[in-house]
Amino acid sequence: LKGFIILLFLSCLATRFNFCLSNLSNIPFTLKTLPFKGNLSFDEISLNKVSKDFGNRYQYYPMAVLNPKSVSDISTTIKHIWQMGHSSYLTVAARGHGHSLQGQSQTHGGIVINMESLMLPEMQIHVGNSSYVDVSGGELWINILHETLRYGLAPRSWTDYLHLTVGGTLSNAGVSGQAFKHGPQISNVQQLEIVTGTGDVLNCSKEQNEELFHSVLGGLGQFGIITRARILLEPAPTMVKWIRVLYSDFAAFTRDQERLISEENAFDYIEGFVIINRTGLLNNWRSSFNPQDPVQASHFNSDGKTLFCLELAKYFNFEQIDIVNQEVERHLSQLNYIPSTLFLTEVTYVDFLDRVHVSEVKLRSKGLWDVPHPWLNLFIPQSKIHSFAENVFGNILTQTSNGPVLIYPVNKSKWDNRSSVVTPNEDIFYLVAFLTSAVPSSNGTDGLEHILSQNKRILEYCERENLGVKQYLPHYNTQEEWRVHFGNKWEAFKQRKFDYDPFTILAPGQRIFQKTI
Ligand code: FAD
Repeated sequence: LKGFIILLFLSCLATRFNFCLSNLSNIPFTLKTLPFKGNLSFDEISLNKVSKDFGNRYQYYPMAVLNPKSVSDISTTIKHIWQMGHSSYLTVAARGHGHSLQGQSQTHGGIVINMESLMLPEMQIHVGNSSYVDVSGGELWINILHETLRYGLAPRSWTDYLHLTVGGTLSNAGVSGQAFKHGPQISNVQQLEIVTGTGDVLNCSKEQNEELFHSVLGGLGQFGIITRARILLEPAPTMVKWIRVLYSDFAAFTRDQERLISEENAFDYIEGFVIINRTGLLNNWRSSFNPQDPVQASHFNSDGKTLFCLELAKYFNFEQIDIVNQEVERHLSQLNYIPSTLFLTEVTYVDFLDRVHVSEVKLRSKGLWDVPHPWLNLFIPQSKIHSFAENVFGNILTQTSNGPVLIYPVNKSKWDNRSSVVTPNEDIFYLVAFLTSAVPSSNGTDGLEHILSQNKRILEYCERENLGVKQYLPHYNTQEEWRVHFGNKWEAFKQRKFDYDPFTILAPGQRIFQKTI
């Protein structure tokens, strides 16, 4: 009997193994028979392209790349995998512009959906009391800017860099200097069209399929693929006054930042960054910022110091210039920056919003864009920002020559707590972003290992001191870490996964849930 049971067990195993193997070898064939408007690629070049991301550290090869031309291409693919049920090992990763940092838009052996190829009817702009634009989830923000400007309108909330897709930033939050006023990008969306993990195509908003709507925003791609989004618009200015002032006193810097974010009409954009131990600072801290070296500032000796730069912008149209000048002067006169460090320039609205692209072009020309990017982004409660700064700036982090370190506060009241994103539990919290680039194969302080160990020390410090910090663009290796990250939102997050993607097909690169086979 024992022998029989063992035989039975082995034969079951073999059947299951064969079943999986035959499924595996059949999959490309069955996929190819699906009625796509777009196409599937299996070639080396296509697979290679989507197995990389901006972080330049993780590489997973998919089995195929789907270039959808319609929403039904996406829904057909997912439905096909869903119908194979537990027998399929396949996962699906929507890829926006692939600007993730740790393989979040990749899948090992699954299907990558190249969202940029999704063709919807052209962007639809609605002009009215509450203007909006309907766009494809694979649309780049830079294209939305150019298109909406033709109507004198533009989205209200941005990221610092616009060559990212709508689906990619809405899956995280989309935070920049406008967030204090309008909230992150996920607070500026009215409606979404989603293909869920069962292949269903659903519209959702605060009024319709509300749970799905909130799940997907900041949902790290876990609950569905965003195929269309309705983005709120505001009248666009033509010009921007772009201002930078320096502080050596952190308390004065944050006091001014916090006062400014409490006044909605003072400025349209508020950010800041840290400068540590940069010799010859005045020759290089304002890349893409003109005038390059105002006479006043050349008297300021910055060598070896830790400084904090407040960055502000005020939008205007030419006819308002006198009033805007007076207002800006009045607001600046109330700030406590180092008087000789006022840098002011005027640029077009497009040049301001697309400013990081200027740096991209420069870095690309020097071969410094496609290097490893061990970025670390944190949300820090207001009550802990001073201890954080004291322990990290100039201590764990001894220089900022490997890339900018951003620091600015936002108002929690502008974030919807029903979304999937997690933020600290205080009215104001800071985004601190260590946007470092590593020099390939360097063993020095600009090398990957050194920067990673610095990030680790920062995270360990936050944990040891129980600062209540949350990672933005989070990355963890175990589900236990994810559970801690989501805190009291974890059970709801798990339930939402079960409801909208029960076979855990979607966004495996986030490594939150294992595919159930
Ligand atoms: P991808 O990297 O392609 O995808 C990211 C995740 O979203 C993946 O899990 C993917 O599966 C999922 N996804 C992609 N498309 C969809 C979709 N249509 N539906 C559902 N899920 C989808 N972030 C900020 O908030 N503020 C900034 O100022 C900012 N600046 C940045 C500057 C640079 C230079 C870079 C490289 C990144 C910056 N980011 C910023 C981070 C950026 O917002 C995220 O990395 C974002 O995910 C990138 O968008 P993407 O289109 O490249 O997405």
